[in-house]
Amino acid sequence: MSHVGDASEVGDVSEMNDGLDVGGTGEGRGQAARPAVPLPVVPDADWSRVLCIVAHPDDMEYGTSAAVATWTRRGVEVSYLLLTAGEAGMAEPPDVVAPLRAAEQRNACAAVGVTDLRILGHPDGMLEYGLALRRDIARVVRQVRPDAVVTANFDVEAYGGFNQADHRAAGLAVVDGVRDAANPWVFRELTEEGLTAWHTGALLVANPSQPTHAVPVDEDAVRAAVASLNCHEAYLRHVVGHPAPDVMIPEILRAGGTAAGTDYAAAFRYYGL
Ligand SMILES: [Zn+2]
Repeated sequence: MSHVGDASEVGDVSEMNDGLDVGGTGEGRGQAARPAVPLPVVPDADWSRVLCIVAHPDDMEYGTSAAVATWTRRGVEVSYLLLTAGEAGMAEPPDVVAPLRAAEQRNACAAVGVTDLRILGHPDGMLEYGLALRRDIARVVRQVRPDAVVTANFDVEAYGGFNQADHRAAGLAVVDGVRDAANPWVFRELTEEGLTAWHTGALLVANPSQPTHAVPVDEDAVRAAVASLNCHEAYLRHVVGHPAPDVMIPEILRAGGTAAGTDYAAAFRYYGL
């Protein structure tokens, strides 16, 4: 996501670099040589529900949505939870941008077989790590009861520079909120809402600098992922110099494939919980 008039104007241009650094095309690793030991495949065969939690509209669309398309095609139910509406990401006023980006995200979800889109109202660009955010994440984890949660890279340094502030706050809160959801003694108001504790079995961090696992994807999934990014039409027009999705996304997924020993793959850091 980007912010008009400040240094993070190119915020999502930094996201566009996600892929340029995934799976081994980054600085010093750019020769796309197949590794001696390919990344293992994410052990997703038994999953029936996945919950993807990110800060902004479009955060799922930089290669990760190819994995989503692969899962939904197999019958896995995938839900998206956006912590903000991305309302501070364009030149137009937030009250115009929020519904516009929600509509674009709904289309992006449809492109990869996702119908459950939830958008929280935390402030875009000012997302705060804290108990309120952890509780809101834990609530949705308990509602969805996923086998796995996916979030985006939340390292301080990511995508070829400093990561965006909301991304850092979001990722850390996701890690904690997922664990909070499993503990019946924290956020007891959630229990009063009728939401019982839920233990999520796996956490995946998308587009990490050092992936541990991959989801191999086929050309249909690559096409769906390109389509999902193309759905953020007004937003992409706003980001000056954004590379064409039909060039950028295959490049990201080809890099993942190189690391995984396949043509195309989405790369992740995988944690069993
Ligand atoms: Zn973002």
